[in-house]
Amino acid sequence: MFDFQHITQETDLYNLHTHTQFCDGHAPMEEFVTEAIAMGFTHLGFTPHAPISVESPVNMSRETVQQYFDEMKRLRDTYGDRIHLYTSMEIDYVSVGDGPASDYFQQLPLDYRIGSVHFIPAIDNPAVMVDIDGKFTGFKARMGKYFNGDIEYVVKTFFSQMMSMVDEGGFDIVGHMDKIGFNASQYRDGIDEEPWFDKLVIDLFENIMDHHLAIEINTKAWLQRNRFYPNLKYFGMLKRFNAPVVINSDAHYPTLLNSGRMEAIKLMNIL
Ligand SMILES: [Zn+2]
Ligand SMILES: [Zn+2]
Repeated sequence: MFDFQHITQETDLYNLHTHTQFCDGHAPMEEFVTEAIAMGFTHLGFTPHAPISVESPVNMSRETVQQYFDEMKRLRDTYGDRIHLYTSMEIDYVSVGDGPASDYFQQLPLDYRIGSVHFIPAIDNPAVMVDIDGKFTGFKARMGKYFNGDIEYVVKTFFSQMMSMVDEGGFDIVGHMDKIGFNASQYRDGIDEEPWFDKLVIDLFENIMDHHLAIEINTKAWLQRNRFYPNLKYFGMLKRFNAPVVINSDAHYPTLLNSGRMEAIKLMNIL
């Protein structure tokens, strides 16, 4: 288990969820490191979208993993005296045995692992995995094509995939735990306020706590969409149960390394 205790939430600037040239990030790793140092960060973790068994334009391939490790080593050698740099991946949960807990990911020399769900099975064909994480226009098109417009199936399947991922384990931080709420609420206004939706989030939260995993507060969408993952309304629950929380910007641009993080910290503090 990665030791988060050496990071002080209140005083240290950190980000443990960062995408670069190795997946769909928009700058090389080195630019994130120099920007982080300039911003006064003390800890920076890289999390390329890990190699995946399904068709995906954003995930890195197994062939580039060694290149990623080599670049990590070079950056640690160059900047390691100024900032703590961590080697990680954001690993997709696809199906039983195909996720963070797999032998492949367990044997990789990673400092910690983020587990996330970006794909769920099509409604009539579980062999077809469909991206439900992207922009709403694409999501809407896929709702018709793969899910017969059944938004409740999509939401329930997202959370059941999250539950299975937590049950199987093999990772340290749960990535954006209710992210489906954004696209789903665009598709059906207010769906994320309905009691059954709420219950899915709370059940997942309890399962995460039972498995002693850290919960990410993902701040990537705060400035543009006014939304955290998990949703702001769950911050009180995180505090009440003293959940281990990691506040990440899920940055794809160096300038956004701290985007939304201070706002999340402030809101956590006043709750
Ligand atoms: Zn993600
Ligand atoms: Zn990410």
